[in-house]
Amino acid sequence: MLRRTKIVATLGPASDDQEVLYNMIQAGVDVVRLNFSHGTAEDHIRRAEQVRSIARARGRAVGVLVDLQGPKIRVGKFESGKIQLAKGDRFILDAECKLGNQERVGLDYKDLPRDVRRGSTLLLDDGRIQMWVEKVEGAEIICKVTQGGVLSNNKGINQQGGGLSAAALTEKDMEDIKTAAALKADYIAVSFPRDASDMLLARRLMQAAGGKSLLVAKIERAEAITNLEEILDATDAIMVARGDLGVEVGDAAVPALQKRMIREARNKNKLVITATQMMESMITNPIPTRAEVSDVANAVIDGTDAVMLSAETAAGQYPVETVEAMNRVCVEAEKERESSFTDYRLSQEFNHIDESIAMATMFTAYHLNVKAIAAMTQTGSTALWMSRLGADVPIYALTPEVETRRKVTLFRGVYPINFKPSTNDSEQVLKEGVDELRRRGAVRDGDLIILTIGEPVGKSGGTNTMKIVRVGSDQPLIK
Ligand code: PGA
Ligand code: MN
Repeated sequence: MLRRTKIVATLGPASDDQEVLYNMIQAGVDVVRLNFSHGTAEDHIRRAEQVRSIARARGRAVGVLVDLQGPKIRVGKFESGKIQLAKGDRFILDAECKLGNQERVGLDYKDLPRDVRRGSTLLLDDGRIQMWVEKVEGAEIICKVTQGGVLSNNKGINQQGGGLSAAALTEKDMEDIKTAAALKADYIAVSFPRDASDMLLARRLMQAAGGKSLLVAKIERAEAITNLEEILDATDAIMVARGDLGVEVGDAAVPALQKRMIREARNKNKLVITATQMMESMITNPIPTRAEVSDVANAVIDGTDAVMLSAETAAGQYPVETVEAMNRVCVEAEKERESSFTDYRLSQEFNHIDESIAMATMFTAYHLNVKAIAAMTQTGSTALWMSRLGADVPIYALTPEVETRRKVTLFRGVYPINFKPSTNDSEQVLKEGVDELRRRGAVRDGDLIILTIGEPVGKSGGTNTMKIVRVGSDQPLIK
């Protein structure tokens, strides 16, 4: 049984063992995430190579997503590593403090005192500690603790409601984009973009570094919700980054925002990853909670392209079991019928010929009992358009381009197939495509399938042809 929803797994110390990584990929990881908030460039390059060598050995494509650190605003370090704060304590965030103590701590983002004012609420360590700003004096933000707890080195700071001015790309991110281009990342995720301009800058830098990655905008700031539409126009994918987003907009607002983001992304022909704490308890437990099972299943039913694992696979005790559990939950949730064709885009004009073919294919697939769709594609864009419509029919992306095969690993319901036709004769190419699917057991004699192709074959240009064939039959089709 093919799983339609894709699984993204973050790599880290827990997955460095060759056998563990192999078993994770075997259990269904489609895309690996290299988290540039941790580790060195060498670690990430080594991990990408390790993944690709396993994927090659297994004859599979696995995508690589580089996740940039971004301007996560953090407190500095403490003399004693950590302090205990109690409700009612006065505490100073001091941009000029070198080493923290019970009274104050430093800041890595020196402009924070300019972004906050009396009455602001600051949330530290993902909201575990809260402070109310009494006043700002020069480099000092003088706060009253409204929710206490242990505060340790380098914990993050968010402002409730957003409004911090830090640009999305730091100097480190700009260097890391070059590393991402060098390791041929299939996806680069930009952390904390505020608006389209952050994404456009990331794209310029990526292209200047010779990269061809698709971009992911992590929606994790209050501003990014306000600017969702322009961000979608400027990106290839978004991530519902529920960790930081929940801190900025309040945890209770996140589920409805998740549904809206997934819907709007798909409507704009963009990809969407749902992330953070999906199987959190599996960091230390071999089975998920019922709530986690429901969360993953609901993201699947919302229509997400992919569900993501973070610390569960990077630093947890059960990385393989977590992937297995996620796989099982996705497959089961997908038995709920995929959205029906309804009036999706019926009243819209199409901008591209290949887009029109993709829509015609899906319309046909809905109304004719076909077993598979085979898109012969160079760039994968036909498969992307097809996959924006939920379908029960698998969409095979047949392409000789390894980079395209790696990119489509994130597309819901799309499966990459390495396909190099022996000729440019389109009749023959279509026949070889059918044979390839039959050889892999994807279709059997007697099945109806839809093929799409760009003619003339071999000349670059988009998909312009759709053909329905019955596998194993040279007879004219009569339904
Ligand atoms: P992070 O992003 O794990 O890089 O913080 C995801 C999130 O904030 O949810
Ligand atoms: Mn985040």
